[in-house]
Amino acid sequence: MYIAIEGIDTAGKSTQIKKLEKHFDNAVITKEPGGTDVGKEIREIVLSAKTKSKKAEFLLFLADRAEHVKEIIKPNLDKTIISDRSAVSGVAYALAQGEIEKKDLLSLNNFATDGIYPSKVFLLFLEKKELEFRLSQKKLDGIELRGVEYLLNIQNCIIEAAKLLNIELITINAAKNIDEITKEILNNIKK
Ligand code: C5P
Repeated sequence: MYIAIEGIDTAGKSTQIKKLEKHFDNAVITKEPGGTDVGKEIREIVLSAKTKSKKAEFLLFLADRAEHVKEIIKPNLDKTIISDRSAVSGVAYALAQGEIEKKDLLSLNNFATDGIYPSKVFLLFLEKKELEFRLSQKKLDGIELRGVEYLLNIQNCIIEAAKLLNIELITINAAKNIDEITKEILNNIKK
């Protein structure tokens, strides 16, 4: 079973993934971008924000995804794969960007993934107030994150992207207690 955890920055994806990992004997824990050796190099390029073309940026994320599907996802489909982000993020960020038509987003993702997508995606959903609070805490740590409105728009685009890709999306309130969230995800996976 291939599942993914999605959510905007500060939603708590990596915390949940660390928690979930402990509940499985041989789960494959992975991420995109950067889940493979080549992906790590692509991640560095793409997050350095040097690309001037939004299309080039999108294609770099897709290259990472193609490598990730071939190297990590396909060989492990008989196991539990838990991925930090997925094609849903890729489509969501591109939707927010608005430069690539929806039909192209879909066909290019299908090309990169051979049609292999998570069977379920969990969205750690943040209300505006909680997001504002978390961003203010992060700023105290000296890390500047993108603005509230930008991130809330990405969050809406995650919901739209899952619909476009026809992937089941389970929304969880990210403000809940960490262990409660883990329990909710586990209960749903076992269903
Ligand atoms: O969550 P992670 O640390 O892997 O993401 C790194 C950054 O890459 C995030 O801040 C996110 O905004 C960005 N990203 C993106 N497009 C994607 C996936 C992530 O711009 N498809």
